[in-house]
Amino acid sequence: MSTNDDLTTPSAQVNGKNPPANVDARWTQRELGRFESDDRFGTTLVVIGGVHGNEPAGLIAAMRVLDTLNAEQPTGFHGRLIVLAGNIPALNSNDENARYIDFDLNRIFTDEQIGMPADTSVEHGQMQELLAALRAIRAQCDRMIVMDLHTTSSDGPPVAVFEDSILARKFARQMPMPIYLGFEEELGGLVIDRVTNELGSVAVVVEGGQHFDPRAIVVHESAVWAGLHAAGILRVDALGHETPPGDVLRDAVGDQAYKVFDIRHRHAIEHDDFVMCPGIVAGKVIKQDVTAIAIEGGVEIASPVRGRVFLPNMQAQKRIGDDGFFIVRHINEGWLGFSARVRKQDWIHWFITHLPGVYGLEDDSLCVDRDIAGVLKRQVFHLFGYRLIRHDQRDAGHGIVRAWNGVISFCKAFFRGPIPGGPDKDDPRFWIVRRHHLDQLDHLDH
Ligand SMILES: [Zn+2]
Repeated sequence: MSTNDDLTTPSAQVNGKNPPANVDARWTQRELGRFESDDRFGTTLVVIGGVHGNEPAGLIAAMRVLDTLNAEQPTGFHGRLIVLAGNIPALNSNDENARYIDFDLNRIFTDEQIGMPADTSVEHGQMQELLAALRAIRAQCDRMIVMDLHTTSSDGPPVAVFEDSILARKFARQMPMPIYLGFEEELGGLVIDRVTNELGSVAVVVEGGQHFDPRAIVVHESAVWAGLHAAGILRVDALGHETPPGDVLRDAVGDQAYKVFDIRHRHAIEHDDFVMCPGIVAGKVIKQDVTAIAIEGGVEIASPVRGRVFLPNMQAQKRIGDDGFFIVRHINEGWLGFSARVRKQDWIHWFITHLPGVYGLEDDSLCVDRDIAGVLKRQVFHLFGYRLIRHDQRDAGHGIVRAWNGVISFCKAFFRGPIPGGPDKDDPRFWIVRRHHLDQLDHLDH
């Protein structure tokens, strides 16, 4: 099947109409189109699609939204919608399974990789161009929001993924989708991570469904409309959709709408014969160290934590270092609300910074004695709005054992006193944590 067929077949299946004649010319440039209000004020919503070459559904959907806006010219549009293509060479590859050419574009947006020459690989060049486009857009607007549209190799309901800040929650929770937090702690170099932490903008990944499922395009189109509404750019009811976008999303996610999950574990593929075990699908509840989740190199792989399977890798091509699967845990609503309230309290952050065994660094991150960090656990840092920059799988036990270990760790840190010159950032005896960047910007605004 040629690339053009790949791009046009799904849309033809969706509405029975012929695909737009110029579809084959659409993935040749970085900015694929924009629609903006005359006043040039308001929020800019940037939609990126095809960061993975085998996931054109998001771009097809975003182009449909642009086509509709251009045809209808709705009054009350206040702001800007810009559509950017992700990995152009991979999108245009003759191989329908080409996620990337040399490197996964959604894993190389790190300081180190960005510092490398653009001709290091196909994806380094793509990264530099995409980043330059995002920086230029950011420089021209007061408020930018980025939606990065993806699809998955396995079947699963649409989900939203982002770094957990109050601002990002406010945006994403207006869309009836389940939310997955903490990805950036397990994966380096995500596009949304760069946008959030360098450009100070809310950035959300939307996984719209299975790569070749035509419903993924419909879901993504609804997500873009819902995103325009959530960003305050256009009221979603302004265009008289046959089925309101919110209903399309709600229908696709079923009982998962608005549920929140925290990522607890990522399994990276170590052998290219990696295969998921039969019956292990997205959402499957698994036991710690017991349930066989995948087989690689002839060995059964279990998870060091209990939870639910997320994004099991069903790609036709798998490479070493790719994500095998994730394990996530459900967070209840009350915990989320509580977390939003406590992280706004300045005294809490002052208190955390002054605990024995916790040392502030110049860049606002904290070094935390790993014995203390093991007692507090990932959940406590998340509750207070801290992101784990470096951590290990340290477990201080349960119940009374954990409380006892906590007392001992704090006493040891107290008697050791301050470390002259502060701890070395690379010292493995410490975890590094940092408050969510957007929470701090949010704070400055008020
Ligand atoms: Zn993707």
